[in-house]
Amino acid sequence: MKTFCVYCKVVVEKDEGTKPITVGAYKAVCCGEECFTNAANYVDFSRRRKILYGLGLAVSAILLFVSIFFFGMTETLGVAFFTIGWMLLGVATFMFPFVMPQTIEMMGIRKGMRLSRLVGIITILATPVWLLFLL
Ligand SMILES: [Zn+2]
Repeated sequence: MKTFCVYCKVVVEKDEGTKPITVGAYKAVCCGEECFTNAANYVDFSRRRKILYGLGLAVSAILLFVSIFFFGMTETLGVAFFTIGWMLLGVATFMFPFVMPQTIEMMGIRKGMRLSRLVGIITILATPVWLLFLL
């Protein structure tokens, strides 16, 4: 049965030196020792950092929400809260590049992590663009 390596997305034949791994609720295989180690590190990392990531997103959402109210009062505080909230969103996405199960299915963990990091960087870089609109 043909399947793919959950980490590098290379197509592998089952029982050909593949190693099974569970990613979240998702049963997958790796093409070899190296991908297995990387995938296992990712699983471990995402399990340990999930709460921190959620916290980052929550704080970011609160800051963005609060900034709306501050904009009505003092623009400086509004901009400050918005900028911090938005950059935190980018930093959290970059630091904790978790990959959705659908994305793993589509491109594997390695490319998915790169994509998440890219989205994080774009988010951070987009901050001045937002400020142009707001100021
Ligand atoms: Zn692989």
